[in-house]
Amino acid sequence: MPVKMPAPDSRTLARRAQIIKAMREIVPGEGVIDQRDELAPYESDALTAYAQRPLLVVLPENTAQICAILRWCNDHQVRVVPRGAGTSLSGGALPAQDGILLALSRLNRILEIDYDNRAAVVQPGVTNLAVSQAVAARGFYYAPDPSSQIACTIGGNVAENSGGVHCLKYGMTAHNVLGLKIVLMSGEIIELGGKALDMPGYDLLGLAIGSEGLLGVVTEVTLRLLVRPQGAQAVLLGFAGVAAAAQCVADVIAHGIIPAGMEMMDRPAIHAAEDFLGAGYPRDVDALLIVEVDGPQEECRHLMQLVTDIAARNGATTIRVSASEEERLRFWAGRKAAFPAIGRISPDYYCIDGTIPRRCLPEMLTRMTDMSRRHGLRVANVFHAGDGNLHPLILYDANVPGELDRAEAFAAEILRACVAMGGVLTGEHGVGVEKRDLMGEMFNEVDLAHQERIKCAFDPAMLLNPGKVFPNLHRCAELGRMHVHHGAVAFPDIPRF
Ligand SMILES: Cc1cc2nc3c(=O)[nH]c(=O)nc-3n(C[C@H](O)[C@H](O)[C@H](O)COP(=O)(O)OP(=O)(O)OC[C@H]3O[C@@H](n4cnc5c(N)ncnc54)[C@H](O)[C@@H]3O)c2cc1C
Repeated sequence: MPVKMPAPDSRTLARRAQIIKAMREIVPGEGVIDQRDELAPYESDALTAYAQRPLLVVLPENTAQICAILRWCNDHQVRVVPRGAGTSLSGGALPAQDGILLALSRLNRILEIDYDNRAAVVQPGVTNLAVSQAVAARGFYYAPDPSSQIACTIGGNVAENSGGVHCLKYGMTAHNVLGLKIVLMSGEIIELGGKALDMPGYDLLGLAIGSEGLLGVVTEVTLRLLVRPQGAQAVLLGFAGVAAAAQCVADVIAHGIIPAGMEMMDRPAIHAAEDFLGAGYPRDVDALLIVEVDGPQEECRHLMQLVTDIAARNGATTIRVSASEEERLRFWAGRKAAFPAIGRISPDYYCIDGTIPRRCLPEMLTRMTDMSRRHGLRVANVFHAGDGNLHPLILYDANVPGELDRAEAFAAEILRACVAMGGVLTGEHGVGVEKRDLMGEMFNEVDLAHQERIKCAFDPAMLLNPGKVFPNLHRCAELGRMHVHHGAVAFPDIPRF
């Protein structure tokens, strides 16, 4: 693992039996996993290049148990890593070797559906798709739609501020969560936001969303429900070059249209998806846009005409508008299956996530071709073009010595270029372990110290999700948060790495 994680504390490892006993008292029955072979599935999340076995896994059933677990761990200085479905692509749910992996999959109930307030209150282990399914019969849905939505949980979505194809028009998780119940490392509960509009005081709800499991454990989420659009239509737009496709994206937005989704695939991704699924994508183009408009039929027709006119003016060689709902879904099926499709043409791939201003798309894709040649690794691109959110998939073979290192160096070069172009290190997958050591590219020491002070206010002993997000974890005392008496630091064992 090139990114270094905090060294396990030998004193905690020595107390394993005591920790297991305490956890079994809090979560009786099947709620504690401590057998070596049964811990194996929890060693990593979807960033499989990073794996390490947790001390044990605890599967609580309710908020009261989570309060008791965190309070005990805080009192006994034991690290805790929250986990939803483990689909994070940034290593956010990578366990600590000397810590408890707190798996939230048993908190999987929809607690309330309140159509009057267009809100649903759910537990964190409910999957993203299950929310839309639960309200579909009444014509409602939950808008953020990560491609992993069949598996990923609402708790994970909140922690990562996840997005998806339709976030261009309907917003990310942050725009669709109204309230949170959070258990702090001390075992105390805080409630942020709620169904009422606006809240006095600091926007702690905004702070908590996207905090990557570092501030507290989310145990209840109030979600905004939207009315499902009356209809939708998608179009495939093929271009001979990436620059023309990128210009088309910019022109559509500049025209005042916000499509429901606007995705781009480059030639390697188009071919992989087409070989895998046969969605009907043109093979003779270098860039493919899938653009969707939604609303009443007349609005869709009007917007689609505008989009196809703009595409034609940008030299689109393929313009195919979906003629039926079945065809629209087939267009999207190819896009949603793009990751597994790439998995068929390469033993391993490394999916990264960075964001750039839309106008920089052609320059970035040209630069990536050059980087691909220099690093000696192929790259395929599938991304949220409307948001400028890139997902380069770097193809490598983990069994070839040095290829993972080269893939990581390639990825780091792309992310540095994103920042240099005025973009950011992540669009939706989070920093986690993956981009932790690149945080210095975006933030200076003062910025980072302020962010760490916020972490200290919530979790002064730095026990929650250690080793993630911050490249150079200071003791809270060094940030002026704690009183150090006669040089005796409160937590001398917190490692620096
Ligand atoms: C094939 C594939 C496609 C994907 N497509 C998308 C996409 O389109 N858009 C997108 O945004 N992401 C995407 N992802 C990434 C991933 O699915 C999201 O980040 C998702 O939100 C993670 O949810 P999870 O339940 O799996 O969380 P996990 O992976 O288990 O955890 C993610 C983070 O959340 C924290 N966490 C989990 N639950 C809680 C909780 N209750 N309280 C506090 N912290 C918690 C963990 O500590 C960790 O830091 C994709 C992943 C895969 C594998």
